[in-house]
Amino acid sequence: MTAKKRSKKPPKAKRTRSHVLRVDLASILSIDHDCDGCLRGEPCCCSAYEVCVTTAELERIIPVLPGAARFCPHLETGGGYDNIFDEVEPGLFAIDTDDEGLCLLAFRSGRKVRCSLHAAAATLGLTLAKVKPKACLLWPMAFSEGKEVLSLIDDALVFRCNTLRRGRSSSFFPAFVNAVDAVYGKGIGGLLEQETARGALLAVVSCRR
Ligand code: SF4
Ligand code: SF4
Repeated sequence: MTAKKRSKKPPKAKRTRSHVLRVDLASILSIDHDCDGCLRGEPCCCSAYEVCVTTAELERIIPVLPGAARFCPHLETGGGYDNIFDEVEPGLFAIDTDDEGLCLLAFRSGRKVRCSLHAAAATLGLTLAKVKPKACLLWPMAFSEGKEVLSLIDDALVFRCNTLRRGRSSSFFPAFVNAVDAVYGKGIGGLLEQETARGALLAVVSCRR
């Protein structure tokens, strides 16, 4: 790869079980988002970023690798698994990519990019929150480190699945509430819906991580 990728990076694990989350509702309400998988050559969230996982996420992903390898046979090498993760700083691991810059955990089905962790979770009856990186669950939202702020990524409109809404909206795109519930705890998405219904552009909620 020539250009340095932007990173899709989770904040370091926190010791506390709950913390304050600030949500930039206005930015998230400004788009519609609907993933139907990318074709080769299209800007894709599985190749546009360096995706990083924490040690805790890595420990959840490793047991699922046999299931993921059913969709990504390239992960298996001589009785083990390819070198999928590179430690980029203590406690933070980047998922390696192929020659085209695509995440090693991605595969193509019907010519569209799919996530093998997502597919393995469905096969094994696991929730996505148990296996997918937080950064991937939330995309096209991003979160800042430190005081966590959730907002729309800056380059959202580069991707075909994100479209700008006309005028002001008070309802999120359909996948948003499920993604927020999966990452921050059940009910958080509903709280944010209540905030938007009363016209708030920024919300502050207490959540589990
Ligand atoms: S860029 Fe959009 S359509 Fe492509 S895989 Fe990511 S979410 Fe799906
Ligand atoms: S882990 Fe899955 S969703 Fe995330 S970048 Fe890799 S293939 Fe895409």
